[in-house]
Amino acid sequence: MQPSSPPHSDGDTRNQPMLIQNQHVAMPPKVISCKQIVVPTTIFNTQDASVNNDSSLKMAVEVAKTWKPGSTLSVSFIGRANVPDAVIESVKEFAHIWSQHGNIFFNFIGDGLVGLIRISFTPGGGNCSAVGTDCQLKDFNGQYTMNLDPEEDINERSLQSEEGKAVFRQIVLHEFGHVLGCVHEHQQPKANIKWDKDRVYTAFGGHSKKKRDLIDVNIFEHYPQNPAIVAGTEHDKDSIMHYEFTPT
Ligand SMILES: [Zn+2]
Repeated sequence: MQPSSPPHSDGDTRNQPMLIQNQHVAMPPKVISCKQIVVPTTIFNTQDASVNNDSSLKMAVEVAKTWKPGSTLSVSFIGRANVPDAVIESVKEFAHIWSQHGNIFFNFIGDGLVGLIRISFTPGGGNCSAVGTDCQLKDFNGQYTMNLDPEEDINERSLQSEEGKAVFRQIVLHEFGHVLGCVHEHQQPKANIKWDKDRVYTAFGGHSKKKRDLIDVNIFEHYPQNPAIVAGTEHDKDSIMHYEFTPT
């Protein structure tokens, strides 16, 4: 089975309105592209984040796209036969970390079954994921809702070093953070980052208008100051949901 393409490429999302003023209206469906992420001390930026202690969580979520507490989300793999077992098992291991800290669970179902969350390993497809309950939208129509890119550290070689494994872990945690409904931390309403846009465009490869549009969507565009749309704790620059930026 060949991995399929997502119905929403990042290019498709760039012209959709990002700021919806009406309360209780969800943000438009999108697949978030995640190129660079931080190396946090722990996934929640606390040294002693205790299991099932919600007060340790720092995050910002799209309210309308979050799951009912206690939900178990089915997860399947597309093109499983072409992916090393070690990669599959590591994805499962790292995804389950979220369940140690939040009331949400993942059930990795068998070959041939189609999950709510459908993970592809398409080379060059980037690391990306639908946000929260968007994965149920007809737009995805059985196609993948998350891509973990073998060309961007999701491979067996990464697992052979501690450093590589840490990056692999960060990517999986980040993408499953989107599954929970988390938005990029640098775009959450309480983030107040003074951008040097030219430097960011350069650092993230904004050589073309298409690339710059992607950067606009995934970095500069800001969620509205409306807790009915995006609710979150204070801006956490060490969040797993934050891109990595070098200070000027
Ligand atoms: Zn992301």
